[in-house]
Amino acid sequence: MPWKALPYSDRDRSKTLGEKFNVEGIPALVVLSPTCDKITSDGVEEIRAASKKALDQWSQGKRLFWSREPREGEYVWQDTTCSLCYMNPLTGSRHGCTHKECNIDLCQTCLPNNKHEHPLVEYLMPKKTYSLEALFKSVPYLLNPNNEEKIETKTMWQNDVKSVGFYFSAHWCPPCRAFTPKLAELYKTAQETSHAFRIVFVSCDRDEESFNSYRAEMPWPAVPLNSGALLKEYFRYSGE
Ligand SMILES: [Zn+2]
Ligand SMILES: [Zn+2]
Repeated sequence: MPWKALPYSDRDRSKTLGEKFNVEGIPALVVLSPTCDKITSDGVEEIRAASKKALDQWSQGKRLFWSREPREGEYVWQDTTCSLCYMNPLTGSRHGCTHKECNIDLCQTCLPNNKHEHPLVEYLMPKKTYSLEALFKSVPYLLNPNNEEKIETKTMWQNDVKSVGFYFSAHWCPPCRAFTPKLAELYKTAQETSHAFRIVFVSCDRDEESFNSYRAEMPWPAVPLNSGALLKEYFRYSGE
């Protein structure tokens, strides 16, 4: 490291400093003013969000992140930063990309200035109850098993559908591979008498090839590989 260090023998002081600044995990970077006022304790996160800009801000005695009080009904997205204005935690409606490799989050105010290459969709609010139609809003279409034929998402809630199973699964996961044929068998038998229960596959596969070969084993439609990110996020946050 191109900076000085506390001697190893002075561990008591490191411990006291860690306690004083509530350092709970490492790496942590706490930035202080010459009068020991805390500029930020989110130094690492600020560097990750915008390294040059964060340094510029610190040089002026200011932090990069800013926050505001939530208004009524607004959700506070902990550990989430708006990619344009650096609001952290991002408060209110959050917009992101369903492509799993894209790392973009925008607040409501920054949305009109969005230049991202893919269309952005609004995140579902954790723990809030949605209609199936609203849940599928970030999914453009479903894929038929075995081929690329597109199925409209409304087949999941129209006609006589009484319940829908969201099947989160991946080919690389042995318990998933063992469970899928059992569920498929059961589903096929059930479909012979009624279509009231539907299943949709939300893939946790890492690439298109394993996604395609895995969904061919299933007798129900799949959410396209790059469209399931928001759905997964919603169920992860909402799961107890
Ligand atoms: Zn913003
Ligand atoms: Zn994207």
